[in-house]
Amino acid sequence: MTPERVSSSSCIFAFKQGLEPALRVQPGSDLILETRDCFSGQLKSSGDEIPDMDWSRINPATGPVYLEGACPGDILKIEIKDIRLKSPAVMIAAPGEGVLGDRIEKPVTKILPLSDSRIEFSPDRVYQQEPMVGVIGVAPAGEEEIPTGHPGLHGGNMDCKLLQAGSTLYLPVNTPGALLAAGDMHALMGDGEIVVCAAEAGGELELSLDLVKGSNLPLPLLENSRVISTIASAETLDEAVNRAVYKMTDLLIDHFDFTLSEAGMLLSLIGQAEICQVVDPLKTARFTLAREEINLKKWQEITKPS
Ligand code: CA
Ligand code: ZN
Repeated sequence: MTPERVSSSSCIFAFKQGLEPALRVQPGSDLILETRDCFSGQLKSSGDEIPDMDWSRINPATGPVYLEGACPGDILKIEIKDIRLKSPAVMIAAPGEGVLGDRIEKPVTKILPLSDSRIEFSPDRVYQQEPMVGVIGVAPAGEEEIPTGHPGLHGGNMDCKLLQAGSTLYLPVNTPGALLAAGDMHALMGDGEIVVCAAEAGGELELSLDLVKGSNLPLPLLENSRVISTIASAETLDEAVNRAVYKMTDLLIDHFDFTLSEAGMLLSLIGQAEICQVVDPLKTARFTLAREEINLKKWQEITKPS
């Protein structure tokens, strides 16, 4: 069956309950979100001026998608099946933005051609693309809206480079239908995203959506063929790392029969505290454990679609 599509013209700039869905799908369906780059395609040529950029159009997220049968308390299981990017990608480095914002004196825009899974930073610096999705989230708990540029418990702008094709992300369902939206895809990004952007590109994000009912998982959570990672965002990176560790510890205690001290010692021995991004309104960390460390039969049980 051809997956249903949502055009990039159906986009939101804040995650919120009560939004009109752009598409309704059944659990188990595939869909394609057509996304714009995080600047809504406003930057088109290399140079040292940012044109009159409309900053209200930053971080468009295509959607929202209503998943039939999704009820508050369920877990949304999002399999990233493919990421197809359109050339070129674009980056900026600008005063006041990111880790170097107080040292950069004038804005610079850079266009990065994409071809054959390669990305060209300059003629002598050509890299393999590692396409990922920066913003992917659902309506948050509560009445407040959360701008698409912010990360949180609902997902959002986590800028986690492990969110690539082949990864599965678990997010909470806070409102009927979940109201998923995504955008801000990157051809390549290093941990930290230090100038507040990576190789920003529009394209197509192919997903499969499912529901896990009656399971209690520390969210957001992701898995790929190698690892399982908990993700947390907080005012400081210190606090984000702590929360990601607490989540992984809870996963081991609640589902894999660890005591607190055994879980702590194991994570201290072979767990990895990793940085997603340090430049958004909240900082995001992940805590990563190799899949082979847990009972995968049990893992399949607790993440099985209902
Ligand atoms: Ca981002
Ligand atoms: Zn981005």
